[in-house]
Amino acid sequence: MPLKLYNTLSRKKEVFKPISKVKINFFVCGPTVYDYSHLGHAKTYVQFDMIVKYLRFREYKVNYLQNITDIDDKIIKRANESGENWKKVSKEYEKFYKEDMKALGIDSVRRYASATDHIKEIISQVRRLIKKGYAYKISDGWYFDLKKDKDYGKLAGRTSLGAEDSVSRIDENKGKRNPGDFCLWKFSKPGEPVWKAEIGDGRPGWHIEDTAITEKEFGPQYDIHGGGIDLIFPHHEAEIAQMESISGKKPMVRYWMHTDFLKMNKEKMSKSLGNFKTIRDLLKNHKKSTIRYLFASTHYRKPIEFSEEALENAKNSVERLKNLVSELKDDKKTNQKYLEEFQKEVDDDVNLPNGLAVLWTLLRDKDAKGKLKTVEKIDRVFCFDLLKREKEGITKEVRKLVNQREKLRKQKNFLEADNIRHKINNLGFIIEDTEKGVVVKRK
Ligand code: AMP
Repeated sequence: MPLKLYNTLSRKKEVFKPISKVKINFFVCGPTVYDYSHLGHAKTYVQFDMIVKYLRFREYKVNYLQNITDIDDKIIKRANESGENWKKVSKEYEKFYKEDMKALGIDSVRRYASATDHIKEIISQVRRLIKKGYAYKISDGWYFDLKKDKDYGKLAGRTSLGAEDSVSRIDENKGKRNPGDFCLWKFSKPGEPVWKAEIGDGRPGWHIEDTAITEKEFGPQYDIHGGGIDLIFPHHEAEIAQMESISGKKPMVRYWMHTDFLKMNKEKMSKSLGNFKTIRDLLKNHKKSTIRYLFASTHYRKPIEFSEEALENAKNSVERLKNLVSELKDDKKTNQKYLEEFQKEVDDDVNLPNGLAVLWTLLRDKDAKGKLKTVEKIDRVFCFDLLKREKEGITKEVRKLVNQREKLRKQKNFLEADNIRHKINNLGFIIEDTEKGVVVKRK
């Protein structure tokens, strides 16, 4: 069974065929570093982390690159509000972002590339667009002329804004030739960061940093580009317009993958709406495995409605998985049948929820051999730390007792089962019988 990916560009699932046999070049839009990241960001980045880890499970070598937008209107605004230097603001939030990603178990990114480290490449792209007649100059900068690009709109299936778009960064100037024209290079206003350039001293527009970085790292064409659905238009559409106009080579990207939103009160979680929880706040009371489970149990192209109850369910599920894993004996081999089943399910557009169902079936299968090694392999994709149980304080002794009590309850020997509950209490743990099974907690 081949791996299939849903491609936003063709609007269908396609068999995945990498450009080169050596490695897959995979780019995901990184954050604009002006504030703490929230759980909505975590959904996109955790799901792409698991997608990349699944590609590695399939033995592809993945060159995973993310950009860091460290110069932008939002950063300048934040710096002006706090009276700090813009560079200090962006450096600080970049550090916080990377700390948050590490705390969520995201370690699949090979390289983070900052916009300000690629000013030379950005200017080179703008100059080539000017030379080829795609760019024009007005009072506040160089703009891309959409009339010159017949293909504009091919990714989103439209050429004007919709309600779901990331609209905060549309460049407005009355002198624009077409309403949708976007800025490639902004002439700096007094007091703003500025880079010297023949095209006029200034700073980069938002879309051009990504194509400058990917052209440098991957060349004009590469395998996979990802991001949240709010970036399809105009951001990703603009990337295509820039790169394909410069190189003349199509398509810039073979497969476009987009995650749907994490919602809170039925709307996209976002700073501007105020319906958000920061990653660091959540990690004070929740483990990374809980958050990863929450995001693994819904397909990446579907939205998730955030609730404390959903987190609690995810937490209990990880606990139950760990209980089942704690029962397993060391074995030398993996269970080929279950590994194949897992791959067959997940190969369908990285269907991790179905893969998770295979993991549950394996753990509940009394006759299956090679369970521990198989769980270990599958958990390299999810990273729920299923095998790291003792470190979290629930000892082997307690897990054994929990499992004994479960068996007794199934035999309806409630008296003995209750005795074991007391023993567990005396060891400093409590057990809760939830609808979906037993949950063990420290007192
Ligand atoms: P930003 O820094 O806002 O450009 O967002 C960085 C990445 O996080 C982009 O890929 C966004 O699509 C994604 N993102 C932002 N908010 C959410 C959300 N509520 N749910 C899922 N992804 C999001």
